Amino acid sequence: MAEQLTHTIPAGHGYALFVEEGQLLRVIDIEGGNACDFNAFVTPDYRERFSAGRTRPMTRIHPKVGDNLWSNPPYERPLFRIVEDTVGHNDILLARCSRLRYDEVGMFGHRNCQDNLSEAIAPYGLRPDDVHDAFNIFSATSIDDEGRIRIEHPEQKPGGFVELECLVSCLVALSACPANEKYGGINTPIGVEVRLASRRR
Ligand SMILES: [Zn+2]
Repeated sequence: MAEQLTHTIPAGHGYALFVEEGQLLRVIDIEGGNACDFNAFVTPDYRERFSAGRTRPMTRIHPKVGDNLWSNPPYERPLFRIVEDTVGHNDILLARCSRLRYDEVGMFGHRNCQDNLSEAIAPYGLRPDDVHDAFNIFSATSIDDEGRIRIEHPEQKPGGFVELECLVSCLVALSACPANEKYGGINTPIGVEVRLASRRR
């Protein structure tokens, strides 16, 4: 596993990489306005993984600096900690976009986070149904008076980033979300760059 790695995820595609305990993973919104769906699988057997459902009550629905990203029961421990965030909004309410949801609005065959993450984890023996509800980095949401999730459209400057400290070594999968205005998402199909460093806070 590399101590340092720089990679640009092509717009609307996915990527997977190993991140070791003590390393920092920086996810960068290169052009501004995008979101990045994050999945994590604890090595080596991958059965323990990030859990949006467990993270919500342990932190908040819009995780911020200092919050941990928790794993699923029966493991239930912090896998990553948010140590820096220059954008200021993340989400663990939304479900990842998927082929069927695009089909519904007539955008047949549109790229989507479910398939992006599936493609990224396939070389590691993981299947499409191993993709789980994501930590939606840079996504901005709110809840309206009827209790429905609303997707917000805040301005995001190019180069904003979120940095995560790895607390438990994981295979991480990331998707540069291909959502667009027609679909109703906040995102455009742009690139996301991932940086991996060994410095520890
Ligand atoms: Zn998406």
